[in-house]
Amino acid sequence: MNKSIWDEYLKGQKFNKLENDIETDVLIIGGGIVGVLTAHLLKDYNINYCLVEKDTIGSGTTSKTTAFLTTQHETLYQTLTEKQRQAYLYINSKALHRYQQLSKIYNFDYEEVDSCLYSKDHNLIKKEYEVLKEIYNDIYINNNIPFDKDKVGISFKKQAVINPIKLINELSKNLNIYEYTEVVKIKKHYAVLKNGKIIKFKYLVTATHYPINNKLNFLFMKLTQKKSYVCVIKNEFVKGTYCSLDKDGGLYYRMYKDYLIIGGNDTDVGCRCISKFEELVCRKFNIKKEDILYSWHGQDTISLDGIPYIGCSDIFHKNHIIVTGFNLWGFTWAMASSEIVLKIIKDKKYFKLTRLNRCSINKNLFKNIWTSIINLLTFRRPRCTHLGCALIYNKEEETYECSCHGSIYNKEGKVINGPARKDINV
Ligand SMILES: Cc1cc2nc3c(=O)[nH]c(=O)nc-3n(C[C@H](O)[C@H](O)[C@H](O)COP(=O)(O)OP(=O)(O)OC[C@H]3O[C@@H](n4cnc5c(N)ncnc54)[C@H](O)[C@@H]3O)c2cc1C
Repeated sequence: MNKSIWDEYLKGQKFNKLENDIETDVLIIGGGIVGVLTAHLLKDYNINYCLVEKDTIGSGTTSKTTAFLTTQHETLYQTLTEKQRQAYLYINSKALHRYQQLSKIYNFDYEEVDSCLYSKDHNLIKKEYEVLKEIYNDIYINNNIPFDKDKVGISFKKQAVINPIKLINELSKNLNIYEYTEVVKIKKHYAVLKNGKIIKFKYLVTATHYPINNKLNFLFMKLTQKKSYVCVIKNEFVKGTYCSLDKDGGLYYRMYKDYLIIGGNDTDVGCRCISKFEELVCRKFNIKKEDILYSWHGQDTISLDGIPYIGCSDIFHKNHIIVTGFNLWGFTWAMASSEIVLKIIKDKKYFKLTRLNRCSINKNLFKNIWTSIINLLTFRRPRCTHLGCALIYNKEEETYECSCHGSIYNKEGKVINGPARKDINV
């Protein structure tokens, strides 16, 4: 249960635990794709850094991904202004190019493919195409969608797929990393570890997926988490990556070697179970449950406007940089965020598009506020140790889940997914 196709590439503990006080110029918290790419870039620029990971490198959301590398992030471009659109495309295309460069040095099963976004709503696709063709040449309308012949898509040429954990293993080889080293408290210029040791820093990069600091920019109201489900089967083949925009049973898929990786059923945390997704896959591909070789779910942080939050925490903590809110499109953004972090540290230059304090009053903000109010006022127990919201019991997965911020506890009450850090009594 919940074993991803990448888990076998996780090698367990490779780095020591930090057992003494240290000082560093840049402290990176979190050893997922964001933390590792940032550490790798800082090392290239001879900037003194240290990365701490509470578990082992790559074992967080990064091991639950499907790892499409694409600049095509649903139909976001049609919601952006022209300037934002150009900035968004530029920084993500640059990130894609850097993965391509890395693939010449390291082996992480990088494969160049076209990526296609499709829907039964032809107008939606047409609108995205019209907006994009002004700024991007390498796109085309795709009428040949495997498994969904009546739908239409928009394809981007020369995108990619990778094995994310092979990449993390390659990049982390010569980095300054401590595993099983959890940060429990953050002050302006130092962090306190679970074992009481202290790390002093000039800059802090929070790459913990859901941030463990920042209150002044109200990220707890601006971020939710979404679950996505994935199954792996054999004996089917597609060329490229495909991602459906349709809410009812829409899927995304790609190949890894001769496996077909199929994702979908995206939902707010606390709502659905993996077995429903397995049933959907069985129906769609006319197979039995035993034919599913891997099956897992993961969750990603969702911002209010579809753009991540990458920038300074708040005006009193300009040396704290937060990276979060990838909306299930974390790979190109993780690469882009490493460059944004470098620019802030090296040149004090800030990237406007992703700043944390941008105005994003929209219907998603009101939805988040409403869900929080309902969950705070309801008498149901147990309560989440993060902000006290009532938890939902997920019968099949035997977990307690927070639909406001995405914390998950197992049936014994132990935290298995943050932002909560303390266990609950059940
Ligand atoms: C099912 C699924 C499919 C996806 N598919 C794609 C895709 O095809 N393409 C794409 O671009 N994106 C995809 N994504 C999104 C992408 O996988 C994520 O955005 C990305 O992996 C997030 O990386 P991260 O480094 O921010 O987080 P993580 O990988 O979760 O890393 C954060 C790390 O911080 C550590 N940490 C947390 N708190 C502390 C602490 N206090 N002290 C020390 N360490 C701490 C955690 O242990 C963890 O290892 C998908 C996501 C899911 C769930």
